[in-house]
Amino acid sequence: QETTTRDNRIPSNDDDVFIRYFNDSANESTIEDQRRQLPAFSHKMQLLYAIEKHSVVIVVGEPGSGKSTQLPQYLYEAGWSVNGKTIGCTQPRRIAAAMLAQRVSQEMGVELGTTVGYSVRFSDAYNPETTRIKYLTDGTLIRECLADPLLSAYSVIMVDEAQDRSIATDMLLALLKKILRKRKNDLRVVISSASLDAERFRSYFDSNDDAATTMADALGSATIISISGRLFPVDVHYLTTPCENYLAASVDAVLNIHKNEPTGDILVFLPGEDDIAQALADTLELSRSGGHLGSMVLVALSAGLSQEEQKQVFDPAPADKRKVVFSTNVAETSVTIDGIVYVVDCGFVKQRVFDPATGIDKLVTQPISKSSAVQRAGRAGRTRSGKVYRLYTYESFKSGLFLRHDVPEICRLSLAPMVLTLMALGVSNLVRFDYFQPPPPELLSHALEHLASLGALEPGRAVLTPGFGIYLAELPLDPKLGACLLNAVQKFGCLREALAAVAMLAIGSDPFVVPSGQRAEAELDKRDFMVQEGDVLTFVNALVAYQETPAKLRSQWCRLHFLSSRVLEQADRISRQLEGYLVRMGYTRERCRQSCGKDFSRLQKCLASGLFSNATKLDVDGSYRLFRGGPTLWIHPSSVLFPEPAKPKFVVFAEAMETTKLYMRGVTAIDSTWLAEVAPHYYSVE
Ligand code: ADP
Repeated sequence: QETTTRDNRIPSNDDDVFIRYFNDSANESTIEDQRRQLPAFSHKMQLLYAIEKHSVVIVVGEPGSGKSTQLPQYLYEAGWSVNGKTIGCTQPRRIAAAMLAQRVSQEMGVELGTTVGYSVRFSDAYNPETTRIKYLTDGTLIRECLADPLLSAYSVIMVDEAQDRSIATDMLLALLKKILRKRKNDLRVVISSASLDAERFRSYFDSNDDAATTMADALGSATIISISGRLFPVDVHYLTTPCENYLAASVDAVLNIHKNEPTGDILVFLPGEDDIAQALADTLELSRSGGHLGSMVLVALSAGLSQEEQKQVFDPAPADKRKVVFSTNVAETSVTIDGIVYVVDCGFVKQRVFDPATGIDKLVTQPISKSSAVQRAGRAGRTRSGKVYRLYTYESFKSGLFLRHDVPEICRLSLAPMVLTLMALGVSNLVRFDYFQPPPPELLSHALEHLASLGALEPGRAVLTPGFGIYLAELPLDPKLGACLLNAVQKFGCLREALAAVAMLAIGSDPFVVPSGQRAEAELDKRDFMVQEGDVLTFVNALVAYQETPAKLRSQWCRLHFLSSRVLEQADRISRQLEGYLVRMGYTRERCRQSCGKDFSRLQKCLASGLFSNATKLDVDGSYRLFRGGPTLWIHPSSVLFPEPAKPKFVVFAEAMETTKLYMRGVTAIDSTWLAEVAPHYYSVE
């Protein structure tokens, strides 16, 4: 169709680099045809029958077979929500929940937020009165359990992407198993997974004491349905020599495919958003010089896309053009884009890893697992035979560098958030809890110790403190950040700034943008906000100044100051939502607006009161170490303190990130004498 237009502008002052492409060609009848062609369609009756007869149904099928988009609609059409109840479908990833809700509302011809909605941390579009199909993150559904322990608003809960094994998915499975005992006749659970270990889910739900027998009285025990997908052969190509730079190699691979291979879109897997932005810019640059610019449509897929951008990921490219999607792991199983024939797999993924010995929770770019590599390759063979270009050698793939499977989160992340929530849900014996997979004991005891030192537990007991621990569990934040907020309102009288700080840290993106060719101007302007107390206070300055700018002038103001309006707008929204939580806890508006004014040390101390386990001291070589020893840490090059010749002697950091070195991000200077005061269980006066 020639109704399409392209917009090649690259926003010059924002960190979103996209080539935008608009297409209105999708129409109702083709959507109906598409729905019928999905593998799930031919299993519809079998699925509905199984759900009628069994409390737990496990559905296994290739990604893209229609589990996430179709199953909830089949249930809706079959009347599973006529009694005013909701069909819930959980996702480990926020962006997937939002995109699915958007797609399904389009398929059903309803406005997003009416019959079909979504709810994820800090963002939602649903109406409790009218929404009947609700996509939400597994974490959000667990939070709903705090207010509605039996999840009585739901008739069916579909736990999607269960193979991902996020902590929240594992927790949700355990909670649903408990809930099913009480709601054995009126709740159904669907577990959907792209991998084949369905038997493990079945035996978990079937195992056990009284549950299986009582459930079996009325309904059959858990059952498995396999949706037979079509998967065409995929040619696998490896590098013959290892590549040094996966970014450059990815861009090369894209241009080579584009030059030498017949039609078909390309999906490129990269670890993080910054890699994606860079690869996009490099491809653009090289395709311009190679004369291919007009023949490719470049799209990014990662967290934090606007609704319009989410739609564009799926827009087919015009017949004479090739679409190239640069994506994080979200396109591995959560989001399926049609038309992909070539996959470029850089072999890496960004993951969080926690070390209970040091208490450091770090983001690491590391090799993917073999099963991830198989899933990524499979994305090339959905509609016809395809090719995958693995940017690693066959030898390294076969070596121990690539684990067989991913280590589930419950074995590699800090369990403090999970323990906090379980306690708030009334689970008193954390060791005997019926986990889907029991966590390693050292992670569990670290979590208890950490929560105790934050002040969330009664002395010597695994019980939440009423004035602090219970509130901490209500905040949709990591306990460290939640503690900063509660201490700001309870002790330090600086909630105005703490809300800004925590909102910025919860987003985790740098609000300062450096447009190419304007580095000097951007650096100069950043100085207006920069303070020697560190990044977090600098971010607070920027956000507070943004909030004081009249709404209609804000985007212009951001452009002028080289700030990302997307990041600041999001941070402003989150800080207002967090304030709402505190108001609901009973803190007055006046108390919530209390500011430390120019007395920054109050805010620094408040940050130290939550982040004290991330406190480090300066070494002679300019590196830092935790007070309890452990690895060497460095200030991240993007930090305002990085160029600082006189580095602060003591700092707390918000996040550790490992690339060439172990870096600290979101750094705040502190006074070491505060530590024993704000965390007496953790630090002694010496
Ligand atoms: P599964 O859950 O089995 O992985 P999905 O239900 O996610 O499969 O996908 C089924 C089909 O719907 C795929 O062909 C996919 O391309 C399409 N689809 C999913 N989400 C969207 C969307 N937001 N926009 C357009 N198409 C979509």
